[in-house]
Amino acid sequence: MNIILFGPPGAGKGTQSKYLVKKTNGFQVSTGDLLRDEIKNETEIGKIIINDMNDGKFVDDEIINKIIKNIIFDPKKTNKLIFDGYPRSLTQAKNLDIMLNDTNQKIDFIFFLNVDKNTIVKRIEKRKIIENRSDDELNTILRRYETYMKTTKPVLEFYSKKANFHEIDGALEIDQITRKIDTFINV
Ligand code: AMP
Repeated sequence: MNIILFGPPGAGKGTQSKYLVKKTNGFQVSTGDLLRDEIKNETEIGKIIINDMNDGKFVDDEIINKIIKNIIFDPKKTNKLIFDGYPRSLTQAKNLDIMLNDTNQKIDFIFFLNVDKNTIVKRIEKRKIIENRSDDELNTILRRYETYMKTTKPVLEFYSKKANFHEIDGALEIDQITRKIDTFINV
């Protein structure tokens, strides 16, 4: 099963994707985590993206396409992909379709966790204390939210037309969201 978790930063995509990884025996594909690893390992990509990441700006589609390609073409991960925070632009979404087609895969479910700005600010401030992420400053959070809303609108329009697209209220408690997701995938 391949699943996309879609929604603004702080919507709970990471939490739900960890649940889905366990439940489906899948692999979490978080471009945010992959990019943070590049920075931590001080790779060439890491050096290019560090400023944009810290400013809450989107990383270039070309870089995202490059880091995601190996995962989609990895036979061990075929039909076990839980996408968290990817795709985030129309170019990425279309590129994903091509790569899935090339590997005889499809997306089974797209879950859009929809949350308002105030809830997100509160959640991310909490996460900042727990995870100490350098991009979790309030100004950065707001910039990430605005960037998200602007850049992902076309992606939302693209996916919302599909029959396997489901919108879920991301302001609900974690286990309530999990239960809603379960009602769709437990069939
Ligand atoms: P996340 O952990 O998903 O909240 O992502 C943290 C940051 O990584 C974002 O604010 C962006 O700077 C960058 N990022 C993560 N995923 C993507 C993506 N698919 N496209 C562009 N930038 C991304």
